[in-house]
Amino acid sequence: MVQSGQFDERYVLSCRVRTGRNIRGLSLPPSCTRAERREVERVVVDALAGLKDDLAGKYYSLTQMTEKEQQQLIDDHFLLYKPVLHFMIATGMTRDWPDARGIWHNNEKTFLVWVNEEDHTRVISMEKGGNMKRVFERFCRGLKEVEHLIQERGWEFMWNEKLGYILTCPSNVGTALRAGVHVKLPLMSKDPRFSKILDNLRLQKRGTGGEDTAVVDDVFDISNLDRLGQSEVQLVQTVIDGINYLIECEKRLEKGQDIKVPPPLKQFK
Ligand code: ADP
Ligand code: MG
Repeated sequence: MVQSGQFDERYVLSCRVRTGRNIRGLSLPPSCTRAERREVERVVVDALAGLKDDLAGKYYSLTQMTEKEQQQLIDDHFLLYKPVLHFMIATGMTRDWPDARGIWHNNEKTFLVWVNEEDHTRVISMEKGGNMKRVFERFCRGLKEVEHLIQERGWEFMWNEKLGYILTCPSNVGTALRAGVHVKLPLMSKDPRFSKILDNLRLQKRGTGGEDTAVVDDVFDISNLDRLGQSEVQLVQTVIDGINYLIECEKRLEKGQDIKVPPPLKQFK
């Protein structure tokens, strides 16, 4: 179980944990046929209808959504809009967009599943505030339920003993877990040692709107760099410890005190 999973909410605005899962027997998004993509949507949406209680929700197909509804989901950080990233277009994974794409979410919008984006599914737990422990607990519980519902229908996720879960992007192979926070670091982020500190803590930074986007109001998306070689719990703990360290640094800089570059964490190979 993770320790110290509640962040100082003066700095951490929201917490998120995601992974990806693909369905064995159906090709990955860069090479699947339109029929396979539709089959993914059918299997996944049928399975998700079995989620209950706080996880119960609804599927919203991109083809049936209005532009306004889509934009609202993007602005709320629930959806990564359209194939805007060059690497996604180059792989062919965005063919026939938005056919058979969509987002499923529970009524509270704290448990979400993207269908047919970069992977067959992206499973996400998120909420505003600094309670990473609660976000991770819901992630584990929800993911287990989703897997169970998929298996009940005679399907399983792509997994093998050597590599772990198989994802479209090799950088995600293993756990595919990215645990991150939106954190406001106006002073730290201007310090010349910021990148080195992130590297040593095995963390990566992204813009406020996700990969390849700009940072707005000094709010960074900071998450684990590794997906492989450690358990899900260890990866989330690395993020919790690292973010707490960054917040401590930010507080020291506010008081005019100096900060230290921590020794590098071991990288698992
Ligand atoms: P991933 O591919 O890991 O799901 P992206 O970088 O593609 O992540 O971003 C997807 C969306 O998730 C973006 O809209 C981004 O702003 C949002 N997001 C990522 N981390 C957080 C967070 N901690 N809180 C709120 N939204 C987040
Ligand atoms: Mg992405």
